[in-house]
Amino acid sequence: MGRVVVAAASVFAGVVVCLAVVLLASRTARGKERSVQATTGSKASSSVRVSPSGYDLTSLSAEQVAARAAALTPEQYRVTQRRGTEPAFCGNLVDHHQDGVYTCVVCGLPLFGSEHKFDSGTGWPSFFQPVDAAHVREQPDYSLGMVRSEIVCARCGAHLGHVFDDGPPPTGRRYCLNSAALVFFEAGATLPPESRPLQLATAYFAGGCFWGVEYAFSLLPGVVDATSGYQNGRSERPTYREVCSGETGHAETVQVRFDPATVSYEQLVRFFFAIHDPTTLDRQGPDVGSQYRSAIFFVDEGQRQVAERVIRELAASDRFAQRPIVTALEPAGPFWPAEEYHQDYVAKTGRACHLDIQAALRAAGVE
Ligand SMILES: [Zn+2]
Repeated sequence: MGRVVVAAASVFAGVVVCLAVVLLASRTARGKERSVQATTGSKASSSVRVSPSGYDLTSLSAEQVAARAAALTPEQYRVTQRRGTEPAFCGNLVDHHQDGVYTCVVCGLPLFGSEHKFDSGTGWPSFFQPVDAAHVREQPDYSLGMVRSEIVCARCGAHLGHVFDDGPPPTGRRYCLNSAALVFFEAGATLPPESRPLQLATAYFAGGCFWGVEYAFSLLPGVVDATSGYQNGRSERPTYREVCSGETGHAETVQVRFDPATVSYEQLVRFFFAIHDPTTLDRQGPDVGSQYRSAIFFVDEGQRQVAERVIRELAASDRFAQRPIVTALEPAGPFWPAEEYHQDYVAKTGRACHLDIQAALRAAGVE
């Protein structure tokens, strides 16, 4: 225990200024070690928030809300923007039993599904749960001399109604909605873009110790999740200890889930070359061993061609005239998420490498 390790994401002249941080804590496993099969839970980056069901939950600005609210009817505006309540039994969705989804009238986020709707007899559309708990936010409401839980759209803040604890099983909750806050789409109908889940893509990068690589990618706009793990080795569910022994052949890899509408795969590749040193074989700074090799693991032919083109271009540049790029380009094998204590390591410990993130973003062509 207590092995002194110098942990630096990378030290790469001119682009990344990364102060090597001496960690007195051991990077070897403390106590129980485990590997998990499924990708770990979503870690929202500062730029894009994504719900567990895959929808963009990034908060709309006041200007964006105002622009959308301008298109509402007076009643929709009164309910959603002025926290109004429509009279009981007057909304068009009270006695409504078609199969489909109810979306936010302001921003289009899917909020409730017909499979969770029930007749409460109250005169307002009632549901026992939202389609995704993350899509509806609850906040205390002390108006009218009562204490109630107001529900608002998690993306645009539109007032929707209230939630009470007198609903049916299995939740025992009653989400009491205003019809004016909702737009219904019948099952099978074509939904507008704002009502569809994000089409996320996945990329894999190995650039030495995954702590710093994961942290750097989590700062890149359009990246919704970065996970540390092990890839392209010979065994299943490897532990950190096994990987560090060099016996399994895995590389410390970061799985990047991204929104291609915001950031392209090519930009990810360029960013990758800006945050690590691709010229040292089986080594990254003070970390030596095949698990620290520089590699891009592509998921399809399109990614392979992009990565190959970028590498060819960089290799021909002055920057790499004296020091050839040794980054391996291989098909992606199974990705094994690392133990939980490795995830978000830099963010959790504050042992941040002082990346010049702006320089890396410029290198990636991201404004
Ligand atoms: Zn909304």
